Amino acid sequence: MKKIGNWPVVSLKDKFQFSCHKGLPCFTQCCLRLEISLTPYDIVCLKRVLNMSSEDFLEKYTQIKISEKIGLPMVALKKIKGKCPFLENDGCQIYVHRPSVCRLYPLGHAFSATRKEGVYFLLKEPECLGFKEKKTWTVAHWIESQGLQGYQKMNKDFSELIFLKTKFRPHGLTTQETKMFFMSCYNLDAFKEFVLKSSFLQRFILTKKEIKKISKDDEALLQLAFKWLKFALFGQPTLRCQR
Ligand code: SF4
Ligand code: SF4
Repeated sequence: MKKIGNWPVVSLKDKFQFSCHKGLPCFTQCCLRLEISLTPYDIVCLKRVLNMSSEDFLEKYTQIKISEKIGLPMVALKKIKGKCPFLENDGCQIYVHRPSVCRLYPLGHAFSATRKEGVYFLLKEPECLGFKEKKTWTVAHWIESQGLQGYQKMNKDFSELIFLKTKFRPHGLTTQETKMFFMSCYNLDAFKEFVLKSSFLQRFILTKKEIKKISKDDEALLQLAFKWLKFALFGQPTLRCQR
């Protein structure tokens, strides 16, 4: 059986036994214990519901580090007073908008050098008493039940970006490129300013409709950010240049 660390890699058809509810003695313990990494789309959803700019959100709630394995900046929720900043005694204060990692748990998702969409694994931690409950899920059914559909398309595009980095730039990016990656993926308000106020629109072909859309719609803007990074860092034909 393939493993990631101690955890078995699972396919969408694999089954596991699990249920999480307030009646369990371990309720919210995982929120104290785990590091919660954020995808670019998680940040879009959270900054929107908290009515903050991406810059203010990053400053207040996150910590940033360069992943040794991937060689790219990764963002995680900053623990405040030893716990997730959104955890209160009665549970998660942003449950409906919780990040992908929290939705996915007890499954984990890892980026892969060979599969664009990455791989899933089962985090069967002894501390998590949900595994002693009777309900059985397939991996696919669990993903569907946790409202991950909207997140998956965006997270898949992000996963693909990391796949391209591993394939085409295994020895790392320059400091300037790393800054560009960070801004485009995580500081989306800054990326919007870059697109609308620099020479970007003179250099690349975007229709009036597309420009209007990215001015108002963060999802469309994030998709443009991914296309831009694929073009600028990994030479993919994702944008058309002006002649
Ligand atoms: S059952 Fe697992 S996921 Fe649910 S609260 Fe307990 S430790 Fe967290
Ligand atoms: S965001 Fe919510 S579910 Fe996720 S760790 Fe924090 S409190 Fe727990």
